[in-house]
Amino acid sequence: SDYLIEVEGLKKHFPLRDGLFGQETGQLRAVDGVSFSIRQGTIFGLVGESGSGKTTVGRTLLGLYDKTAGSVKYRGQDLHALSARELRALRPKIQLVFQDPYSSLNPRIRVGDAIGEAMLEHKLCTRRELREKVIEVMKICGLSAQHYNRFPHEFSGGQRQRIGIARALILNPDFIIADEPISALDVSIQAQIINLFSDLRDDRGVTFLFISHDLGVVEHLCDDVAVMYLGQLVETASRDALFSQPLHPYTQALLAAVPTLEPGRAPVAAVRGEIPDPSRPPSGCRFSSRCPYAVARCRSEIPTLREVADGHRVACHLVNT
Ligand code: SF4
Repeated sequence: SDYLIEVEGLKKHFPLRDGLFGQETGQLRAVDGVSFSIRQGTIFGLVGESGSGKTTVGRTLLGLYDKTAGSVKYRGQDLHALSARELRALRPKIQLVFQDPYSSLNPRIRVGDAIGEAMLEHKLCTRRELREKVIEVMKICGLSAQHYNRFPHEFSGGQRQRIGIARALILNPDFIIADEPISALDVSIQAQIINLFSDLRDDRGVTFLFISHDLGVVEHLCDDVAVMYLGQLVETASRDALFSQPLHPYTQALLAAVPTLEPGRAPVAAVRGEIPDPSRPPSGCRFSSRCPYAVARCRSEIPTLREVADGHRVACHLVNT
């Protein structure tokens, strides 16, 4: 198949408790039936506001959280059906890059050693070969051999993110989950990291799940996009279709909030109101409490994600096929 990753009906529910060890009072359905596929060698954007569950999707894919239901396939293999040993062998292939790489860097370990650490852990090379490999990957990430012996505090935010990417990249991953990797950085530095991601895709065929709240960046970088709202996908499409013809009222509202230089794009009302408490989503369509087009049916019947054009799926009662 052309897909590196296939996610089907993924759910991750967290128990809500009364105090830390108290009675279970309900369920937070952080991810509630999410399905999408990522084509090999492409960047798939997962977009949503904070509280949408997009970070939980990434962490559950990586196995940091146990899923509640659904399946995740990597190269057609069900990740959760693998033995511990198979999983360990696969681990280097799937890497996470997150917003604040500094928090995971030991301040007393030289960055070159920090970048190489996982290579030794996974026994992917000998100590002797390591230095050369580290320097090679540092160069790909826009760092130089002179940086090898420095400590994390000697680097700027953008350079630390390059260190984070180098740590992931040295394991030669097929798939990188990048969770808001640039939102802590200055705009000029953001562009450099974005270019690094697109080079990794184009030159090395790395596949990405790019998790972001920033539609401008997603439009620039991603090949396909899914929009998430309160634990569910409301729309998925190719980048071009999503940005030229957004169909879901939520996507339309998000796009209207993005400054655009294109005169042809009709402005639609920006998203009204706050995102509801994810532990108590509205009945029926979860967007109904904020949707300017909501009708009675929207509050009683859950819209399903259905294909309305080739590769373009949307979950809204009012969108006709
Ligand atoms: Fe709005 Fe109804 Fe469509 Fe939901 S189903 S997005 S409430 S029109």
